[in-house]
Amino acid sequence: MRIVLMGPPGAGKGTQAARLAARAGVPHISTGDMFRQAVREGTPLGLEAKGYMDRGALVPDEVTIGIVRERLRQEDAARGFVFDGFPRTTVQAEALDRILAELERPLEAAVELVVPDAEIVRRLAGRRVCPQCGATYHVEFQPPARPGVCDRCGAELAQRPDDREETVRERLAVYRRQTAPLVDYYRAAGILVQVDGTGAVDAVTASVLEALR
Ligand code: ADP
Ligand code: ADP
Ligand code: ZN
Repeated sequence: MRIVLMGPPGAGKGTQAARLAARAGVPHISTGDMFRQAVREGTPLGLEAKGYMDRGALVPDEVTIGIVRERLRQEDAARGFVFDGFPRTTVQAEALDRILAELERPLEAAVELVVPDAEIVRRLAGRRVCPQCGATYHVEFQPPARPGVCDRCGAELAQRPDDREETVRERLAVYRRQTAPLVDYYRAAGILVQVDGTGAVDAVTASVLEALR
């Protein structure tokens, strides 16, 4: 499986990418998770990325493309990958095409999770994440067994700083301006797959797998 998952913040990319990747036995590559880990570890990459993330802006293309190129060199990625949150600009999409052409492993599909704005706002407002293991929950739609506590590792759940309302508005604007045009890019390439991202998590996974067959 060699795919990218697209869709606005909160569409369910991370949730679906984890399931699809586990099923196919390929890595789930989330540039957002990679940046958040770098921020936690206080690396130079993290220090650079943090300012952009805090205001809902995109990390510069050169930086983002650099970490993706490195990641694709790791052995596990030879089996395939599910990208989540990358590419987010046309420049990133073109760079990804070039890197994959060199590796002779082109993308098979770009899957867009289609979710209406009102639902996006509900999903982001209720999103809670585990600062320790990265698991994602929703207070109403995917609650942990014990409120506020991670099922997987027992850590206390938190709200992502960029899920606060002001930043969400900016992230949605950035999505429309810089990332939504990629839908046309992949349509023109003949690999766009659009999937209804509303409905239960399992139903969405099934629709994606069906659409990829
Ligand atoms: P969501 O899926 O909720 O939109 P992500 O975890 O994918 O959030 O991304 C969080 C933040 O990390 C983005 O707002 C941006 O600042 C940065 N980021 C993640 N991926 C990219 C990317 N491909 N290009 C530039 N910035 C990125
Ligand atoms: P993205 O990576 O696109 O930003 P996430 O996978 O983090 O999106 O999902 C955003 C929020 O919506 C999370 O709180 C998640 O638990 C919840 N969520 C994901 N998929 C669904 C779904 N099909 N129905 C209801 N809530 C969902
Ligand atoms: Zn956890």
